[in-house]
Amino acid sequence: RSVIGILALQGAFVEHQTALERLPFRRKLEVILVKTPEDLERCDALIIPGGESTTIALLARLSGVLEPLREFVKTKPVWGTCAGAILLSQAVENAKKGGQELLGAMSITIARNGWGSQIESFEAPLDVEGLQNPEKPFTGVFIRAPVVIKLHPNPNDRPIEVIARLSPGLLPPALASPDHSDEPKIFVALRQGLHFLTTFHPELTEDNRFHEYFVRECVFAARR
Ligand code: GLN
Repeated sequence: RSVIGILALQGAFVEHQTALERLPFRRKLEVILVKTPEDLERCDALIIPGGESTTIALLARLSGVLEPLREFVKTKPVWGTCAGAILLSQAVENAKKGGQELLGAMSITIARNGWGSQIESFEAPLDVEGLQNPEKPFTGVFIRAPVVIKLHPNPNDRPIEVIARLSPGLLPPALASPDHSDEPKIFVALRQGLHFLTTFHPELTEDNRFHEYFVRECVFAARR
């Protein structure tokens, strides 16, 4: 069995646990909540949930788990949702005063609360590579979501794959104009090697496709 940890310092960690427990292959998984370096040591893979990125980083430092996390991301599969996506990034814009600790596992720049203050939260259908099902489009739930600003592809790093994007034509009116179609802004799920980020919250829907994707493509694939 693979042990999947969910960083449980702050934010939507219980929802990820529930989603993993719904998966068809859950018998091949042990799901644990991670609060200490000892918990992290047991994990083959980790999910960093949404919440508040500055708070999660601060609590990680206080609980002694921040430095072990920096080591963990070097070799193990990690998925960050929303605030977790910020932590996985190499650089951040719009960080809180006092700064933001980052794990730097993915070669991108991300902006906190990047959709601007005119719209806090929205839902939008996603264009998902490989998980496309026209009968049942995946609905992305975005809550004060970060925005991918720039990819920094580097021949020495694993390539960055775009797994899901927003359809510019289907954005909520407040976001729809000007046309964002040629900007990384519409990239809402990215994968780089064993690392995966989503700027939205799949754990807040009943749809397990992103949880399945992470377990199949990042966690099980790492064992082969
Ligand atoms: N805006 C939050 C942050 O900067 C992220 C929001 C979320 O995880 N839903 O950490």
